[in-house]
Amino acid sequence: MPTHSDELRVRITETIRHFWGFDTLRPLQEEAIRASLAHRDSLVVMPTGGGKSLCYQVPPAVADRTDVVISPLISLMKDQVDGLIARGYPAAALHSNLSPAERRKIESGMRENAFRLVFAAPERALSSWFMSSMQAMNVQAIAIDEAHCISQWGHDFRPEYRQLAMLRDRFTKASFHAFTATATPRVQQDIVDQLRLRDPARLIGRFDRPNLIYRILPKVNKIEQIVEVIRRHEKEAVIVYCISRRDTEELANVLRANGINAAHYHAGMDAVDRRRTQEAFSNESLDVVVATVAFGMGIDRSNVRCVIHESMPKTIEGYQQETGRAGRDGLEAECVMLYSAGDAMRWEGLIAKSADNAEDPGEVMAAQQALLDAVVAMCRRPVCRHKSLSEYFGQGYDKPNCGACDVCLEDVEGYEDATVAAQKILSCVARVEQRFGIGYVVDVLAGANTEAIRRNNHQELSTWGLMKDTPREQIQSMVYQLVDQGLLVRTPGDRPTLHLNEQSVAVMKGQIDVKLLKPRAKKTSRSKAGEQTWEGVDRGLFEELRKWRKGVADERRVPPYVIMEDSTLMELSRVRPTTMDVLRAVRGIGDKRMTDFGAAINTLIADYCERHHVSENVRAAAGVVIPVSKRPSEAKQQAFALFAKLKPIEHVAAKISRAASTTSQYLEEWILEARPESVDPWVDAATYQRVVAAMDEDARLRPVFDKLGGAVPYETIRIVIAHQKAHAGSPPA
Ligand code: ADP
Ligand code: ZN
Repeated sequence: MPTHSDELRVRITETIRHFWGFDTLRPLQEEAIRASLAHRDSLVVMPTGGGKSLCYQVPPAVADRTDVVISPLISLMKDQVDGLIARGYPAAALHSNLSPAERRKIESGMRENAFRLVFAAPERALSSWFMSSMQAMNVQAIAIDEAHCISQWGHDFRPEYRQLAMLRDRFTKASFHAFTATATPRVQQDIVDQLRLRDPARLIGRFDRPNLIYRILPKVNKIEQIVEVIRRHEKEAVIVYCISRRDTEELANVLRANGINAAHYHAGMDAVDRRRTQEAFSNESLDVVVATVAFGMGIDRSNVRCVIHESMPKTIEGYQQETGRAGRDGLEAECVMLYSAGDAMRWEGLIAKSADNAEDPGEVMAAQQALLDAVVAMCRRPVCRHKSLSEYFGQGYDKPNCGACDVCLEDVEGYEDATVAAQKILSCVARVEQRFGIGYVVDVLAGANTEAIRRNNHQELSTWGLMKDTPREQIQSMVYQLVDQGLLVRTPGDRPTLHLNEQSVAVMKGQIDVKLLKPRAKKTSRSKAGEQTWEGVDRGLFEELRKWRKGVADERRVPPYVIMEDSTLMELSRVRPTTMDVLRAVRGIGDKRMTDFGAAINTLIADYCERHHVSENVRAAAGVVIPVSKRPSEAKQQAFALFAKLKPIEHVAAKISRAASTTSQYLEEWILEARPESVDPWVDAATYQRVVAAMDEDARLRPVFDKLGGAVPYETIRIVIAHQKAHAGSPPA
């Protein structure tokens, strides 16, 4: 006897297979979906790419109801709705950018309960019109996306989110479901309290993203370091995050001068330019974007292969979110952060400035400073990055070596004479009487001949030019590292100067052994981080499928990942399905995709495999179950399609994995049905004539065979007979 729970599982599985082509749910997804179907509140914390959206997309489809999703950004909603519609899932987004006609269409759809999901921004959700529509639609579940925005302890507090508690008062019977990717335990509790969740199911996922390779490296030669990273991701999507708008423009210029096609993006650009850049990135005509954190919330491109932080980010939450945009498809991706003590100081200045306008500057500054301190501590500690991040979000990490971070991969190496270099730097600070900043001290050590140095007569110092053989950038990086390690003090404020402390003295006396790091020269260790590897994937086919996908995407004016993810293209390039059955078994291929693209993909792959002599329908190791025997109707259909392309019997037989005799029978059937003008591809003209000459009125097989003395095989005779029958009454041309 099937239990109720089994039945539900079947319905859920059926739904995800139908719309998404997935066979299984990830563990927390199932619990989250069940909570919603059981009308129980939930708090779902799942890292970016963990599959949160499925958790609120599936329940209304299973229960055949309309749910509401509150989401902070229009672009975010629009992308999701486009993706859903492309899968045949009825959804709509209500936002301020709709034309009156679009709006009316959605409103009437809502009245007819035509949607499974309606997305709305918080302000809109709280409008009285929307609330009464929700009442009319009898909304039973409300999902709040990016729920951390409700907490002031979080990194992205939005006061308008606080108002959402009003929904709870109005819709007492509906269940509420909060979703976020980044929340420390403290923020999680704040979400529960603010939204007044009732005994919520707390579904907290693993924060770790094993497919990301983290590299947190001292900034030594910024441009060179960034260019090198981007070069190893040629033709792949890369986002470079900067602190300021001006930084993005300058860096994009420098990258272009280095032959890298990069565009900048920040909130200060006009809407048209912003949109153009975002769209170019989405539709894969642009691969490198240099941006402030304004870029990304709406970017759903799932094949971002690299995220670079040109400077230290302001919070670990921010870092987790921004790096989270890499590798959403579960494939390996790289996250590189270049940090220096200078970055932290820059942030401190910005925090002080922004706090000036706050109601309670002291409290705001303290909260933000604490978040920043956590980033600084993480950068400095030589502890596995996966472990550091997991622990920050309140989770343990057991692996002794993640194999996917700079610490575990030993990407950085120490300078050989670090202690001596440190002593040189510190004594220079002493010689200039602790009155100057980093730039000046570096100039003196490098032996620069500047106006300021001449004015102070510092070219006379014994430390002038003491490090002239070391590149300026490297000296600067060493100074920052000394500050990072507390061996040197940089005063806060507008005009910071360098000072010595007790530790500095100990270094100069040789009592402390100093370690200074530099990135290992041109090391591009790759890890095995990705969920999926390139093993068995035909790269050439992958590229052709990408081209095909771009064509379809451009035609439909949607981003390519909406048509199909990279991971699905990889799976296709590995399995190389040329029949509908095998195709259907590929992960990521659902019903809608079968109908929309099945034939096109099969044909493209068949064509590719033929041109490159690559085997088709490879039984895949990675969980793809390919049915051994195909349903007859399907094999026949495919055979018919191939006959229409005049393919020889052997070829068709191989394609549909059937014996030549069976294939030949299919050919007869096809001839009778399609009535082709000639059967030349299968029977040469002379043989055809001989068979026709040997035929009697009844066109019986055996007499013809005998008359020809067994020289023509049965199969061939049958084909000719079929052709004659097909054209009986109207002689073939
Ligand atoms: P999030 O919103 O948590 O960042 P998404 O919902 O966008 O993550 O999902 C990330 C990726 O994982 C998407 O490409 C999605 O199609 C895929 N995905 C989600 N659930 C599953 C599943 N059960 N099986 C396979 N792939 C999945
Ligand atoms: Zn590690």
